[in-house]
Formats: sequence, structure tokens, C-alpha cells
Amino acid sequence: MFIKNIVWLKKDLRALDHQPLKFAVENGPTLAVYVVEEQWLKSKECSDFHKKFLKDSLLELSGSLKKRGVPLLVITGDVLDVFKKLKDKIAFQNIFAHEETGLLWTYKRDLKVSKWCSENAVVLKEFKQFSVLRGLKDRNRWHVNRSKIIERDLIKDFKQNTDTDLDSLLNLHSLETQKTTSIQKGGESEALNTLNSFYTSRGERYSKELSSPVTAFNSCSRVSPYISWGNLSLTQIHQSIEEQRYKIKSLSFEREKNWYGSLKSFESRLWWHCHFIQKIESEPEIEFRNMNRAFDGLREDHHNEMYFEAWKKGETGYPLIDACMRALIQKGWINFRMRAMLVSFASYQLWIHWRMISHHLAKLFVDFEPGIHFSQLQMQSGVTGINSIRIYSPIKQTIDQDPNGLFIKEYCPELSELDPKFLSEPWNAPPMILQMADVRLGDNYPMPIVEHKKAYKKAKDTIFDWRKKSSVIQESKAVYLKHGSRKNKNFPTQSRRIF
Ligand SMILES: Cc1cc2nc3c(=O)[nH]c(=O)nc-3n(C[C@H](O)[C@H](O)[C@H](O)COP(=O)(O)OP(=O)(O)OC[C@H]3O[C@@H](n4cnc5c(N)ncnc54)[C@H](O)[C@@H]3O)c2cc1C
Repeated sequence: MFIKNIVWLKKDLRALDHQPLKFAVENGPTLAVYVVEEQWLKSKECSDFHKKFLKDSLLELSGSLKKRGVPLLVITGDVLDVFKKLKDKIAFQNIFAHEETGLLWTYKRDLKVSKWCSENAVVLKEFKQFSVLRGLKDRNRWHVNRSKIIERDLIKDFKQNTDTDLDSLLNLHSLETQKTTSIQKGGESEALNTLNSFYTSRGERYSKELSSPVTAFNSCSRVSPYISWGNLSLTQIHQSIEEQRYKIKSLSFEREKNWYGSLKSFESRLWWHCHFIQKIESEPEIEFRNMNRAFDGLREDHHNEMYFEAWKKGETGYPLIDACMRALIQKGWINFRMRAMLVSFASYQLWIHWRMISHHLAKLFVDFEPGIHFSQLQMQSGVTGINSIRIYSPIKQTIDQDPNGLFIKEYCPELSELDPKFLSEPWNAPPMILQMADVRLGDNYPMPIVEHKKAYKKAKDTIFDWRKKSSVIQESKAVYLKHGSRKNKNFPTQSRRIF
């Protein structure tokens, strides 16, 4: 058996638009390898949701690769050990892979692999999958590269004609899970189906319906896990948007207008994807530390475990917060505004450090993407110094985003008989109304764990006092130069927006 090339699959689990696979197959007999890493299995971010999504993706990928003549080896262990053993057995010469911008341990693992390759005469060639730039010195022209990288032509399909004499071997037992059926199914065909259904039946009102959890599950694109696990490339999505722009020209004026707005919003959100990942690429420490170090000490000494547990379980006594957390626990997804509200409530009203909430959410987000996740956590908890402070009111959000209580009643069935006008503040409902709806506060539904108005004011005063410190202002300038979106012309902002 002769294998010249290994394609090391990471979070790029697709056969289409895959540069390393195409390049490898054109350059000699190729074996694809995915290592279910023990370090990942043990990590605080890994959950059954991720294992299930990964397993779905690998099962489908093995079939797609087989059709293209490429065997797939899936094995659990340490990447370097696997490569060492494979080298002894099949004496491969090259490893081709996509660059990954992940957590600190994946970065260190990449360094180890790179060192081993150079010491063992193995060529390691990495390709870009996103417009995230290694060693970026200047943020000013980042957007120009972004367009060049994403708006390229699709990589053509491939077929390996040499018989490698190897069969695929999928050892998936480390990916066994408990019941996780209500999350999105992983794999390339589901990714394409999801994108397709967004254009054919779900996305026309996207820009108007993305904020409310009542409509967002259907109207948002729902492509995030497919991007995070690499079942879809950003180039495929970019091209699909162009095709849809062409198709909508034949629609009525009204529908074309709706679609025009939706595609514009969709495209602008996709733009943020790489913008955020670039931050952790340029500064991996943001996984652990405040982006603006002058905020160190803001929340470190204030942890309240009882609040934290109530927030994690969806038992805070604020119906929209609880419904969002319970939806996330069941489905592994919630829309942007509700994610921001969950983090804001934990960070401000409950004054919990973003480091504490990060693992819980990372496990629940099927689409967990470190670069977006840590940047958003820091932004929503107010420790970047370059973003507006957004303190969400769960009361106002209920009135704005779920006025009829449809979402709340789905996930908090104990409130299902309560008149929707009391769902924003059930504790203010007349006792008779509560009794008729069988809502027993403090018994079958919690009393609010904090008093919103008081907690909100205290948090607001504290964060704005900190924002005025000269050390924070000074450090914010450095944060902006390193990470700031050049779309934000009013830096550094002291503005306050109440949501
Ligand atoms: C605290 C917090 C944590 C988050 N963690 C993650 C995460 O781990 N992984 C993740 O993919 N998204 C994360 N997001 C961003 C956003 O909420 C999700 O991308 C979005 O809800 C996914 O649903 P969708 O695919 O239907 O998105 P759509 O609204 O249809 O957007 C399309 C795509 O654009 C990208 N995108 C959308 N919003 C953002 C954003 N604000 N920043 C960067 N990219 C964006 C995503 O790739 C998304 O799939 C987080 C947001 C917050 C507030």
C-alpha cells in the first residue's frame, strides 16, 4: 500500500469546496484522517450536542469520500501519536489541512504537529478556510483581504483514481451520546438543505424576524453549526447569495424588496463571522482574559453561585430569560439577540464574570466557535471598552419580542395559563390572576432572583464609573487599534443603549 498524502480533517467536514482534499488527490495517493481528540473530549467546551453533530458529519463524509475514491480513517486519540503511528505504517510524505483558529490547546497542538513535521521530513501545507489572517499587523486593510478570500471561485470536485488498497475505518464509539435528537443534524447534505430552505421557504422575512425568538427559529438561516463544523464553506454561501439575488428579480416588487433586505442583513452578519474570529487569532489570550485589561477586577470577586445555578437551569424568575435558557438546553440554538440578552443578564443584573458563563454556553451552542464566542461574551459583558454598553431589560424584551407569550409558554409550561400581559412581570400580576392560572410564585415558578430595577441601576452605575477611568480609556485605544471594526467611526464610544 502506498499513501503519499494525509488530509488532516478538522472543522472542515465536507467534500465540496475543499482545497486540501482536491490538492492532495491531484498530488498522489491520499488518505483522509479525522482524530477525535482526547483533549477535546475532556475539555470544558465539549458536550453531547457536539459529539452528535460531529458523528453525523463524519458518517456522511465517509460516504461522500468513498464515492470520490478517498478512504477515511476516524480514530480517537492524540493527533501527534496518530501521525507517528501512521508514519511508521504507511510512510506518508505530506499532510494537507485547513488552518484552524480555535482554542489555546488547538493552537499548541498545531505547533507540536508543525514541529514534528519539520523534524521528520513531512511537508505540512495549510490552506485558508476563512478570511482570518495569521500574523496580521494592520487591521485597516483587513476587509480587502476578506473579500479576496471569500469571493474566490468554488474549488472543483475531485476523484481519486489510484487504488489505495485501503478501506475506510470509522471508530466512532467515543462519540456515543445520550438523547440529543432535537438539535440540528450534522452533515453536508443537511447543510445544503438548510441553506436551500432558507432561500425557498424561510428567509423572505429574515431581516424583520431575526430578533424575536418566536420567529427566529424559522426565519434565521440556521447555518451557523454548518459553518462552525465546516459542512459549508463561506464561499459556497457567498455564491448562493449571489444566485438568490439573481432569482429574486423575477418576483413581485414587494417580495423582491423583502428579499433584498434579508439578503443584505444575512450578508452583513456573515461578514462579522471572520471579523470576530480574527480577534482571537490576533490575541489568543482573550479566551481567558479581558480584552481590555483595565477591566480586570471588575467582577472577579463577586460570584454568586445561587444566581449562577438559577441562570444555568432557566430558573431565574424572569420568564423570557428562563424560556431562552430552556430552549437552548433542548435545541442547542437560540438567536443572536436572545444570546446577547442571556449574557447581559448574567453579567449585569447577576454580576457574574464572563469566564464563568462561557463554558455553560459553549457546551450548549451546537455552533460553538471560539473566536465569535469569546469576543461576543466580552462585548456583551462590557469589558472591551470599544463597544457600546448594552444592558438588556428582560421586561422590555418580553414586551417587544414575545408580546403574546408564545415562546415563553412553549418553554415555561408552568406559565401557560397566565394572561400574556403579565408574562413580563408575573410578580406584579394580581393574586387572583395568578391563582386562576395556577401560577404559584416561589413554588411551581420561581420568584425573581434579583430585583431588576435595583440590579440594573447598580450595574449601570458601576460599569460607567469604570468606563470613565483613565486606564480604561487608554487601554481602549489599544484595543481598538488591534481589534476594532473600521466601520465604527466614533471610537471610543461612551454611549449607552438600553435594550
Ligand atoms: C454571547 C454570544 C455568543 C455567540 N457565540 C457564537 C458561536 O459560538 N458561534 C457562532 O456561530 N455564533 C455565535 N454567536 C453569534 C450569533 O448569535 C450566531 O451566529 C447566530 O445566532 C447563528 O444563527 P444563524 O446561523 O441562523 O445566523 P444568521 O443570523 O442567519 O447569520 C448568518 C451567519 O452569520 C454569522 N453571524 C451571525 N451573527 C453573528 C455575530 N454577531 N458575530 C459573528 N458572526 C455572526 C454566523 O456564522 C451565522 O451563521 C454568538 C452571539 C452571542 C451574543
